[in-house]
Amino acid sequence: MLCDDVKRVIYFFLDGQLGSNKQQDLTQHVDRCPDCGARINIQRRLRMFVRQRLIRITASDRLKTRLARSLRALT
Ligand SMILES: [Zn+2]
Repeated sequence: MLCDDVKRVIYFFLDGQLGSNKQQDLTQHVDRCPDCGARINIQRRLRMFVRQRLIRITASDRLKTRLARSLRALT
């Protein structure tokens, strides 16, 4: 696998949707290629960050619904 291949499949890899053969190729490449290792780390952290923010947004949406409901109960 080449760096360009890694770039192309990085999202599938992080989603766990890469076939086991390709995943092995990728892991072997990343072991030897610090650039791709760093790229994967950044993407992984970015996804975690986005997911945490999404969870927070969902929570506040639920809170908004609850607030709206209790406001309606008051009026
Ligand atoms: Zn590489």
